[in-house]
Amino acid sequence: MAAAKPALPTLSSPDRVVYPDVGITKKQVFDYYAAVAERLLEDSGERLMSVVRCPDGIQGERFFQKHLGPAFGKAVHRVEIAENDGKLAEYAWLDDLAGVLSLAQMNVIEFHPWGSKVKTLEKPDRLIFDLDPDPGIGWPKIKAAARELRDELQALGLTSFPRLSGGKGVHLVVPIAKRYTWDQSRDFCDRFAHAMEARAPQRYVATMSKAKREGRVFIDWLRNGRGATAVSSFSLRARPGAPVAMPVTWDEFASVRAPDRFKLKDAVKRVDAPIWDLSIAKDQKLPKL
Ligand code: ATP
Ligand code: MN
Ligand code: MN
Repeated sequence: MAAAKPALPTLSSPDRVVYPDVGITKKQVFDYYAAVAERLLEDSGERLMSVVRCPDGIQGERFFQKHLGPAFGKAVHRVEIAENDGKLAEYAWLDDLAGVLSLAQMNVIEFHPWGSKVKTLEKPDRLIFDLDPDPGIGWPKIKAAARELRDELQALGLTSFPRLSGGKGVHLVVPIAKRYTWDQSRDFCDRFAHAMEARAPQRYVATMSKAKREGRVFIDWLRNGRGATAVSSFSLRARPGAPVAMPVTWDEFASVRAPDRFKLKDAVKRVDAPIWDLSIAKDQKLPKL
């Protein structure tokens, strides 16, 4: 007999306005997550999850929350792990629609998973290169940068996939074999980002400092440490217009107009679209750099 499915949470305050600029309500956010939950879970299921909550809508106070207690309901699974400083703390992970909707009911807007699965917590299974452009850089240059990174990674034997952040930049996602430690994968990303900077210092910077970013793209490799997160595919962003972090193919990427191009309504239409063919990037090994 199949296990009983957990009951779906009841929505409260359905008419509360979450995105005042476009008049999107809590019910519309909840319905959005019901529609895309499967795609979101494909990317973020069984991963420790931090969230951005906006109880008073995106113009109110927001909370980036890593620790979700019992108030979030039974469908939000919890696990106690040691944080990097050794202290124990409770984290949450999801594996079904009820979990996703329990968070939507609790005013979660953004989903931010770890780079590993909960059962293999100490072995990351993907790298993220988060391209953070200086505000002065136009979209065509950001796109060119993303493609250049793609080509450099491919030359190292690593296939990557692009995700529009729904904000100002692009993330390159690189699936890897679950055989490296956090330090090893983060170290690879650190070296790769610095190598790009060394090759084209007029275009790239690998250190966080805002001062050095002028006219350049910061290759944010710091998303790859233990405990670091990056926004999930199909997560809404708590930004005007209700944009969504959207995975695209490299072909689609060529004609995309902006990193926040896909809004809530566009994203729903893509729920059945074929997106990343992860089968072409199985068990990728990190080369020595
Ligand atoms: P953009 O394309 O506009 O840069 P982004 O999602 O990449 O959008 P960043 O600021 O570059 O935004 O990346 C921040 C990432 O760091 C988030 O995606 C999130 O997963 C993580 N993060 C860690 N701590 C926080 C925090 N306190 N608030 C927001 N994000 C945080
Ligand atoms: Mn970014
Ligand atoms: Mn960043």
